[in-house]
Amino acid sequence: MSQVKYKRIILKVSGEALAGPKGVGIDPIVISHLAKEIKSIHNLGVEIGVVCGGGNMWRGETGAKLGMERSQADYMGMLATIMNGLALQDGLEHVGVPTRVQTSIEMRQVAEPYIRRRAVRHLEKGRVVIFGGGTGNPYFSTDTTAALRAAEIDADVILMAKNGVDGVYSADPKIDPSATKYDELTQLDVISKNLKVMDRTASSLSMDTDIPLIVFNVNTEGNIKKVIEGENIGTVIRG
Ligand code: UDP
Repeated sequence: MSQVKYKRIILKVSGEALAGPKGVGIDPIVISHLAKEIKSIHNLGVEIGVVCGGGNMWRGETGAKLGMERSQADYMGMLATIMNGLALQDGLEHVGVPTRVQTSIEMRQVAEPYIRRRAVRHLEKGRVVIFGGGTGNPYFSTDTTAALRAAEIDADVILMAKNGVDGVYSADPKIDPSATKYDELTQLDVISKNLKVMDRTASSLSMDTDIPLIVFNVNTEGNIKKVIEGENIGTVIRG
C-alpha cells in the first residue's frame, strides 16, 4: 500500500464514458477497458465505490424539453444508471473483481438496496460497490450522487473519469484551440467561472464536504493508477 495516496475512493463514470465512439448505448470494449483499469487499483488494496451516470441512454432534461413531466423523465434517467451499473458489474466479474451493486431505488431481484453501513462493510471486505439509481430523487444528477456517496462512505477523493478529456479547460478544447488546462481549481472557481465540471448542486455539496475531486482522462491506460499513486495528471479541484 506504500505507493497509494488514496485509500478509499468514489469513481464517477459518466454514461458518456461507457458509450464508446458512438456516444450512445453501452460499448462492451469500453466496459472491459474500464474493468481492467479498476482492477489495477483494486489490486493495490484501494477501496472503490463507483457512481454510474446514465446520459448514454437517457437524460431527464431531454425528456422534459420534449414535453414529458420532469420527474417522470428523471426516474427514467435513474433507471438508465442502474443498467450501466449492471453492465459494469458484469465487466468487473469477468476480470475477477468481487462487486456489489446497490441501488437507491429498490430492485431486489437485481441488486441490493442502498444501505450505507452495508456498503462500507463491502468496501472493507474488498468488494467494489457500484451505486446505481443516482440519489433516488428527481432534479438531481449523478455528479451530486458522487459527492453525496463520497461523504457518506468517508471517501478520500472523488475521481471523475472523463471520456478523452484530460482535465478541466478554460473553454472546450475541441472547439477553441486557445483553451488552457487548469492544474488546480477550487469548487468556488468552478461555480464563479461557470466551468463545465459538474452541476452547481454537486459543486456546492463538494464545497461543504471538502472532499477533493480529480478530473482525468480514463481512456488512457494506466491513468487511474497514476492518479491513485498521486501523479499530477488531470485537474485537482479542492473544496
Ligand atoms: N437522475 C436523477 N436523479 C439523480 C441522478 C440522476 O433524476 O439523483 C437522472 C437525471 O434525469 C439525469 C439522468 O438520471 O439526467 C442521468 O444521470 P446524469 O445526467 O447525472 O448522467 P451522466 O451525465 O453522468 O451520464
